[in-house]
Amino acid sequence: MIERNDGMIIRKRTKPLILRKYEILRTRLKSTFPRVQQIDRAYGKYMKGYMGEVKVDYYLQFLEQITTILQDVCLKLDGKSVQLDNIIISQHAIYIVEVKNYSGTIIFDTTLNQFIREDGKKETGFSHPITQVELQQLKLQNWLHHNGFTNIPIYYFVAISEPSTIIKVIGDTEPIAKVVAHGERIPHIILDIEKKLENTNKIIHQKIGHMILKKCIDFDRDIMKEHEIKREDLVNGVKCTSCDMLAMQRTPRNWVCPKCEHKDRHAHHLAIKEYLLLYQWITNQECKNFLQVNSRHMVNKALKNINLTYEPANKRWIKNKQK
Ligand SMILES: [Zn+2]
Repeated sequence: MIERNDGMIIRKRTKPLILRKYEILRTRLKSTFPRVQQIDRAYGKYMKGYMGEVKVDYYLQFLEQITTILQDVCLKLDGKSVQLDNIIISQHAIYIVEVKNYSGTIIFDTTLNQFIREDGKKETGFSHPITQVELQQLKLQNWLHHNGFTNIPIYYFVAISEPSTIIKVIGDTEPIAKVVAHGERIPHIILDIEKKLENTNKIIHQKIGHMILKKCIDFDRDIMKEHEIKREDLVNGVKCTSCDMLAMQRTPRNWVCPKCEHKDRHAHHLAIKEYLLLYQWITNQECKNFLQVNSRHMVNKALKNINLTYEPANKRWIKNKQK
């Protein structure tokens, strides 16, 4: 029997940074921007991915009492980052669970090493989900090695988030069935492996978990660069902190919404926060322009209150780097 062993979810999934960036961007992009659809598609893809991850979280939480769980992990290794949807650490092993949200039917062809989606898309190489999770295993292994942990077995899974997705295999079923399963089955598969490992060396999963937690960063991408969005492509102004209308008017001491008449002295703080979610830095001039105000004093005061570092040489405020 597996004993209860003080497990815990020590890193919980929140809405990913990229998704929050897209949400802000979509409220700020000028309607004349030519690639709005491309941005909507990218946003939809991320959103679908996130929803799938949340679905699988529901099942994986059943392992919480006996394992240390980290959701949405991003680690730096040799200047590159490795992203893992779930890391589950037990007394005997580490389990990587990568979540995929394919709909319809998916086919694994073990003879040709191809992954085929119902829509006819053949995916080989890095977009093959098993290849992807194998690579993650290798990277995590290297990362652990680098941080002084060797010889911990690492198992990996591809969890299909939609219960209605049909998984088919052409060729040898066994190697696929070992790795690919619907989210709801993953805890059972892990518990079966745990039983087999019962008499192997024990590891202190809490310790490894907290070491990983300490080094976790938020996965980030420069979506402005990826979609070639210039600062001029954004709509300037301050959003109403009550109704979201992007049209708050500045009065001598306040911001007032023309639509709902909501007043907020600090509404510009939200606008600056939004800007700095999309960009790494801001100048006083850009800030004045973005807020549509003339007051140098107000802008200065607001920027000083945020966690930024002033770079005198470039006359700009820079976001403080993640560890
Ligand atoms: Zn309003």
